Amino acid sequence: MEKETILGVDVSQATYDELAAQLLQDIEQKRKSFIVAINPEKIMKAQEDEGLRKLLNQADYQIPDGIGVILASKLKGGKIHERVTGIDMMLKLCEVAEKNDKRIFLYGAKPGIADEAKNKLQEMFPALQIAGTLHGYEKDPEVIATTINDAKPDILFVALGSPAQEKWIIANKDQLYPFVYQGVGGSFDVISGRIERAPERFQKLGLEWLYRLLKEPWRLKRQLVLPKFLLKAIVKK
Ligand code: UDP
Repeated sequence: MEKETILGVDVSQATYDELAAQLLQDIEQKRKSFIVAINPEKIMKAQEDEGLRKLLNQADYQIPDGIGVILASKLKGGKIHERVTGIDMMLKLCEVAEKNDKRIFLYGAKPGIADEAKNKLQEMFPALQIAGTLHGYEKDPEVIATTINDAKPDILFVALGSPAQEKWIIANKDQLYPFVYQGVGGSFDVISGRIERAPERFQKLGLEWLYRLLKEPWRLKRQLVLPKFLLKAIVKK
Protein backbone atom coordinates (compact mmCIF):
# COMPACT_ATOMS: atom_id res chain seq x y z
CA MET A 1 0.00 0.00 0.00
CA GLU A 2 1.25 3.44 -0.96
CA LYS A 3 2.51 5.78 1.76
CA GLU A 4 3.97 9.25 1.88
CA THR A 5 6.16 10.81 4.54
CA ILE A 6 5.24 13.96 6.44
CA LEU A 7 8.06 15.37 8.57
CA GLY A 8 9.59 11.93 8.89
CA VAL A 9 6.37 10.11 9.73
CA ASP A 10 4.76 7.67 7.25
CA VAL A 11 1.12 8.21 6.31
CA SER A 12 -1.02 5.85 4.22
CA GLN A 13 -2.70 7.10 1.04
CA ALA A 14 -5.37 4.37 1.12
CA THR A 15 -9.12 4.90 1.57
CA TYR A 16 -11.37 3.16 4.12
CA ASP A 17 -12.42 0.55 1.56
CA GLU A 18 -8.89 -0.20 0.39
CA LEU A 19 -7.70 -0.55 3.98
CA ALA A 20 -10.66 -2.71 4.94
CA ALA A 21 -10.02 -5.08 2.01
CA GLN A 22 -6.33 -5.31 2.88
CA LEU A 23 -7.02 -5.92 6.58
CA LEU A 24 -9.48 -8.69 5.76
CA GLN A 25 -6.77 -10.29 3.66
CA ASP A 26 -4.33 -9.95 6.56
CA ILE A 27 -6.74 -11.92 8.74
CA GLU A 28 -7.39 -14.57 6.09
CA GLN A 29 -3.66 -15.04 5.58
CA LYS A 30 -3.01 -14.97 9.35
CA ARG A 31 -0.72 -11.94 9.09
CA LYS A 32 -0.29 -9.63 12.06
CA SER A 33 -1.06 -6.01 11.31
CA PHE A 34 -1.15 -2.82 13.28
CA ILE A 35 -3.08 0.38 12.51
CA VAL A 36 -2.12 3.72 14.06
CA ALA A 37 -3.90 7.06 13.67
CA ILE A 38 -1.62 9.93 12.69
CA ASN A 39 -2.44 13.54 13.56
CA PRO A 40 -0.40 16.77 13.70
CA GLU A 41 0.05 16.43 17.46
CA LYS A 42 1.72 13.02 17.10
CA ILE A 43 3.89 14.17 14.17
CA MET A 44 5.08 17.19 16.18
CA LYS A 45 5.84 15.05 19.23
CA ALA A 46 7.79 12.70 16.98
CA GLN A 47 10.05 15.60 15.93
CA GLU A 48 11.54 15.63 19.41
CA ASP A 49 11.09 11.98 20.24
CA GLU A 50 12.92 9.64 17.89
CA GLY A 51 11.56 6.63 19.77
CA LEU A 52 8.01 7.77 19.08
CA ARG A 53 8.80 8.42 15.40
CA LYS A 54 10.17 4.88 15.04
CA LEU A 55 7.17 3.47 16.88
CA LEU A 56 4.71 5.23 14.55
CA ASN A 57 6.66 4.10 11.49
CA GLN A 58 6.67 0.52 12.75
CA ALA A 59 2.91 0.28 12.26
CA ASP A 60 1.69 -1.35 9.05
CA TYR A 61 -1.01 1.23 8.35
CA GLN A 62 -0.72 4.88 9.44
CA ILE A 63 -4.12 6.43 8.82
CA PRO A 64 -4.45 10.20 8.21
CA ASP A 65 -6.61 11.26 11.16
CA GLY A 66 -6.92 15.03 11.47
CA ILE A 67 -7.45 17.70 8.84
CA GLY A 68 -3.91 19.05 9.46
CA VAL A 69 -2.40 15.91 7.90
CA ILE A 70 -4.53 16.38 4.76
CA LEU A 71 -3.51 20.05 4.48
CA ALA A 72 0.17 19.19 4.93
CA SER A 73 -0.07 16.53 2.22
CA LYS A 74 -1.75 19.00 -0.16
CA LEU A 75 0.88 21.65 0.55
CA LYS A 76 3.61 19.17 -0.28
CA GLY A 77 1.91 17.96 -3.47
CA GLY A 78 1.01 14.64 -1.84
CA LYS A 79 -1.90 12.37 -2.64
CA ILE A 80 -3.86 12.23 0.60
CA HIS A 81 -7.21 13.89 -0.01
CA GLU A 82 -9.46 12.52 2.67
CA ARG A 83 -9.28 11.86 6.36
CA VAL A 84 -9.40 8.30 7.63
CA THR A 85 -10.32 8.75 11.29
CA GLY A 86 -9.55 6.19 13.96
CA ILE A 87 -13.17 5.84 15.05
CA ASP A 88 -14.56 5.54 11.50
CA MET A 89 -11.87 3.01 10.60
CA MET A 90 -12.90 1.04 13.69
CA LEU A 91 -16.57 1.13 12.63
CA LYS A 92 -15.59 0.11 9.09
CA LEU A 93 -13.70 -2.87 10.52
CA CYS A 94 -16.76 -3.82 12.59
CA GLU A 95 -18.83 -3.76 9.38
CA VAL A 96 -16.26 -5.97 7.60
CA ALA A 97 -16.08 -8.32 10.61
CA GLU A 98 -19.87 -8.65 10.69
CA LYS A 99 -20.04 -9.50 6.97
CA ASN A 100 -17.15 -11.97 7.05
CA ASP A 101 -17.70 -13.76 10.38
CA LYS A 102 -14.64 -12.25 12.05
CA ARG A 103 -14.54 -11.71 15.80
CA ILE A 104 -13.63 -8.47 17.56
CA PHE A 105 -12.48 -7.67 21.11
CA LEU A 106 -12.59 -4.32 22.94
CA TYR A 107 -9.67 -3.66 25.30
CA GLY A 108 -9.32 -0.36 27.17
CA ALA A 109 -11.14 2.64 28.72
CA LYS A 110 -12.54 2.93 32.25
CA PRO A 111 -14.33 -0.06 33.81
CA GLY A 112 -17.79 -0.47 32.28
CA ILE A 113 -17.16 1.64 29.17
CA ALA A 114 -16.01 -1.18 26.87
CA ASP A 115 -19.21 -3.09 27.81
CA GLU A 116 -21.35 -0.06 27.03
CA ALA A 117 -19.52 0.34 23.72
CA LYS A 118 -20.09 -3.35 23.06
CA ASN A 119 -23.85 -2.91 23.54
CA LYS A 120 -23.92 0.05 21.18
CA LEU A 121 -21.89 -1.80 18.55
CA GLN A 122 -24.22 -4.78 18.84
CA GLU A 123 -27.17 -2.49 18.08
CA MET A 124 -25.35 -1.04 15.06
CA PHE A 125 -24.10 -4.43 13.79
CA PRO A 126 -26.53 -7.10 15.04
CA ALA A 127 -24.61 -10.09 13.62
CA LEU A 128 -21.19 -8.84 14.76
CA GLN A 129 -19.37 -11.34 16.99
CA ILE A 130 -17.95 -9.42 19.94
CA ALA A 131 -15.71 -12.01 21.54
CA GLY A 132 -15.06 -10.06 24.73
CA THR A 133 -14.15 -6.83 26.52
CA LEU A 134 -11.59 -5.80 29.13
CA HIS A 135 -11.15 -2.40 30.79
CA GLY A 136 -7.88 -0.50 30.45
CA TYR A 137 -6.91 -0.42 34.13
CA GLU A 138 -6.14 -4.12 34.58
CA LYS A 139 -2.47 -4.20 35.56
CA ASP A 140 -1.64 -7.91 35.42
CA PRO A 141 -0.17 -8.69 31.96
CA GLU A 142 -1.00 -12.37 32.43
CA VAL A 143 -4.70 -11.62 33.02
CA ILE A 144 -4.77 -9.30 30.01
CA ALA A 145 -3.14 -11.86 27.68
CA THR A 146 -5.27 -14.78 28.90
CA THR A 147 -8.55 -12.83 28.68
CA ILE A 148 -7.80 -11.81 25.10
CA ASN A 149 -6.42 -15.16 23.93
CA ASP A 150 -9.23 -17.23 25.45
CA ALA A 151 -11.76 -15.16 23.48
CA LYS A 152 -9.93 -15.87 20.17
CA PRO A 153 -10.70 -12.56 18.47
CA ASP A 154 -9.45 -11.75 14.96
CA ILE A 155 -9.40 -8.00 15.55
CA LEU A 156 -8.31 -6.23 18.75
CA PHE A 157 -9.22 -2.60 19.38
CA VAL A 158 -6.94 -1.05 22.00
CA ALA A 159 -8.14 2.12 23.77
CA LEU A 160 -5.40 3.06 26.25
CA GLY A 161 -4.58 6.55 24.90
CA SER A 162 -1.51 7.47 22.90
CA PRO A 163 1.33 6.50 22.86
CA ALA A 164 0.58 3.89 25.58
CA GLN A 165 -1.65 1.86 23.26
CA GLU A 166 0.91 1.86 20.43
CA LYS A 167 3.66 0.76 22.81
CA TRP A 168 1.43 -1.97 24.20
CA ILE A 169 0.53 -3.25 20.72
CA ILE A 170 4.17 -3.42 19.56
CA ALA A 171 5.23 -5.21 22.76
CA ASN A 172 2.38 -7.74 22.73
CA LYS A 173 1.04 -8.49 19.28
CA ASP A 174 3.44 -11.28 18.41
CA GLN A 175 2.46 -13.28 21.52
CA LEU A 176 -1.30 -12.74 21.23
CA TYR A 177 -4.01 -14.48 19.21
CA PRO A 178 -5.54 -11.56 17.21
CA PHE A 179 -4.27 -10.64 13.74
CA VAL A 180 -5.39 -7.02 13.36
CA TYR A 181 -4.56 -4.45 16.09
CA GLN A 182 -5.87 -0.90 16.09
CA GLY A 183 -5.08 1.81 18.65
CA VAL A 184 -8.33 3.76 19.01
CA GLY A 185 -7.72 6.33 21.81
CA GLY A 186 -10.98 7.63 23.24
CA SER A 187 -13.22 5.83 20.72
CA PHE A 188 -14.93 3.55 23.28
CA ASP A 189 -15.91 6.66 25.27
CA VAL A 190 -17.49 8.11 22.12
CA ILE A 191 -19.21 4.89 20.96
CA SER A 192 -20.61 4.26 24.45
CA GLY A 193 -22.16 7.74 24.30
CA ARG A 194 -20.12 9.06 27.26
CA ILE A 195 -18.41 11.65 25.06
CA GLU A 196 -20.21 13.49 22.32
CA ARG A 197 -18.73 13.66 18.84
CA ALA A 198 -18.96 16.83 16.73
CA PRO A 199 -22.11 17.06 14.58
CA GLU A 200 -21.72 15.66 11.05
CA ARG A 201 -21.74 19.15 9.50
CA PHE A 202 -18.56 19.98 11.40
CA GLN A 203 -17.00 16.61 10.57
CA LYS A 204 -17.71 16.96 6.84
CA LEU A 205 -16.16 20.44 6.72
CA GLY A 206 -13.09 19.20 8.58
CA LEU A 207 -13.98 21.49 11.47
CA GLU A 208 -14.21 18.91 14.24
CA TRP A 209 -11.32 20.74 15.95
CA LEU A 210 -13.36 23.99 16.00
CA TYR A 211 -16.34 22.26 17.58
CA ARG A 212 -14.14 20.71 20.25
CA LEU A 213 -12.45 24.04 20.87
CA LEU A 214 -15.81 25.76 21.39
CA LYS A 215 -16.92 23.01 23.80
CA GLU A 216 -13.58 22.57 25.58
CA PRO A 217 -11.70 25.92 25.30
CA TRP A 218 -8.84 24.54 27.41
CA ARG A 219 -7.86 22.48 24.38
CA LEU A 220 -6.48 25.65 22.76
CA LYS A 221 -2.95 24.91 23.92
CA ARG A 222 -3.07 21.45 22.33
CA GLN A 223 -4.53 22.87 19.14
CA LEU A 224 -1.91 25.60 18.73
CA VAL A 225 0.31 22.83 17.50
CA LEU A 226 -1.61 22.87 14.17
CA PRO A 227 -0.32 26.19 12.72
CA LYS A 228 3.22 25.33 13.90
CA PHE A 229 2.94 21.95 12.25
CA LEU A 230 1.74 23.38 8.91
CA LEU A 231 4.51 25.97 8.88
CA LYS A 232 7.10 23.31 9.53
CA ALA A 233 5.65 21.05 6.84
CA ILE A 234 5.91 23.89 4.28
CA VAL A 235 9.42 24.94 5.29
CA LYS A 236 10.73 21.36 5.14
CA LYS A 237 9.22 20.88 1.66
N1 UDP B 1 -7.10 4.73 29.41
C1 UDP B 1 -7.02 3.40 29.83
N2 UDP B 1 -6.03 3.03 30.71
C2 UDP B 1 -5.10 3.91 31.18
C3 UDP B 1 -5.17 5.25 30.71
C4 UDP B 1 -6.19 5.63 29.84
O1 UDP B 1 -7.82 2.57 29.42
O2 UDP B 1 -4.22 3.49 31.94
C5 UDP B 1 -8.17 5.09 28.49
C6 UDP B 1 -9.05 6.24 28.93
O3 UDP B 1 -10.04 5.79 29.82
C7 UDP B 1 -9.63 6.70 27.59
C8 UDP B 1 -8.50 6.40 26.61
O4 UDP B 1 -7.60 5.54 27.30
O5 UDP B 1 -10.74 5.91 27.25
C9 UDP B 1 -7.71 7.64 26.17
O6 UDP B 1 -8.52 8.51 25.52
P1 UDP B 1 -7.97 9.88 24.89
O7 UDP B 1 -9.12 10.53 24.20
O8 UDP B 1 -7.20 10.65 25.91
O9 UDP B 1 -6.95 9.29 23.83
P2 UDP B 1 -6.03 10.01 22.78
O10 UDP B 1 -6.25 11.51 22.88
O11 UDP B 1 -4.67 9.57 23.14
O12 UDP B 1 -6.49 9.43 21.49
